[in-house]
Amino acid sequence: MNAQVETVIDLDAIAHNVRVLRGFAQGAAVMVVVKADGYNHGAVQVARAALGAGARELGVTTVAEALELRAAGIDAPILCWLNTIDADYGAAILADVEIGVSSLEQVRVVEQAARKTGRTATISLKVDTGLNRNGVSVTEYPQVLAAVRALVDDRVLRLRGIFSHLAHADEPGNPAIDRQRERFLEAVALAKEHGLQPELIHLSNSAATLTRPDLHFDLVRPGIAVYGLSPIPELGDFGLRPAMTLQAEVTLVKRVAAGEGVSYGHRWIAPRDTTVALVPAGYADGVFRSLSGRFEVWLGGALRRNVGRVCMDQFMVDLGDNVGNVRAGDRAVLFGGGAGHPHALDWARLLDTIDYEIVCSPRGRAVRRYVGTGR
Ligand SMILES: *Cc1c(COP(=O)(O)O)cnc(C)c1O
Repeated sequence: MNAQVETVIDLDAIAHNVRVLRGFAQGAAVMVVVKADGYNHGAVQVARAALGAGARELGVTTVAEALELRAAGIDAPILCWLNTIDADYGAAILADVEIGVSSLEQVRVVEQAARKTGRTATISLKVDTGLNRNGVSVTEYPQVLAAVRALVDDRVLRLRGIFSHLAHADEPGNPAIDRQRERFLEAVALAKEHGLQPELIHLSNSAATLTRPDLHFDLVRPGIAVYGLSPIPELGDFGLRPAMTLQAEVTLVKRVAAGEGVSYGHRWIAPRDTTVALVPAGYADGVFRSLSGRFEVWLGGALRRNVGRVCMDQFMVDLGDNVGNVRAGDRAVLFGGGAGHPHALDWARLLDTIDYEIVCSPRGRAVRRYVGTGR
């Protein structure tokens, strides 16, 4: 029995995408980013498939996300890089989770946690090279380096890496990228002047992995590309395959007479006698109401336009003169990677956003189902 709304996750696509990324990485190790529950694909399952396909490490946002992977028995290196001051660093240290540090205050709380557990904490320094978001600021950096150096000497901390994050990676020729590269290398050099020897340095997200080999360094950190979506759609799909399909099972097919309105507010009036199908997924499941009347689903071998408003639990599509064999029980693909399917990018364009947000949207009654072996 399949759920009436499903996100089908193709683990073979994940494995394929990791292999594609390894090809682009040209010898740099691949850290697969599985934050936000694997971009809503399921962090544990994605991590296993990715590691099986040759990814070396995992990246997440929080300690809690890292611990979930450890609890599932995953023993690959895991880095988490965005935590509050009161996060459970002790648990991270005991689970051998690497902590991305962005301030002197954070160095101090990780130090305290390390002393309390009696274990050396593994950290990476996240340096701000121009994104001006997370990361050690230029002004605080020398103090942070001095503090880390002392703690490394005391074996309270182990400095595994230095990393940073790009602001314009999706515009490969943007000069801001070169500025960030320069600042990054300066930050690494300054750490070395403080007697610190990071084991690895890294800067590239998906876009830079695919387009900027000069930024690969020791390791790359792709996220969205692992899930088969292009970080720079204008440059094509780079051979990636979308891993997520959002689909729902048609509940009802019925005739509607010319002049009848469909769904709340009767925003669509049947221009002629027609046949419509009810798809039981709505905004509670991640189908945005603002898509009403503007999107299509793949159903019965054709694209079918949504008519009338998207509701909390359902929407209608018009089958017109081409009903085909569509009947209750058939699967309507809202977006996916198959031939003819609408793509997450179609929704992104309609909604003035990026496909990252689209794959993060399915929720509510949408149940995940995995296909493929991930090998
Ligand atoms: C999310 C994230 C990534 C992955 O970015 P993509 O654009 O999805 O490849 C890499 N590094 C950091 C620090 C991130 O927060």
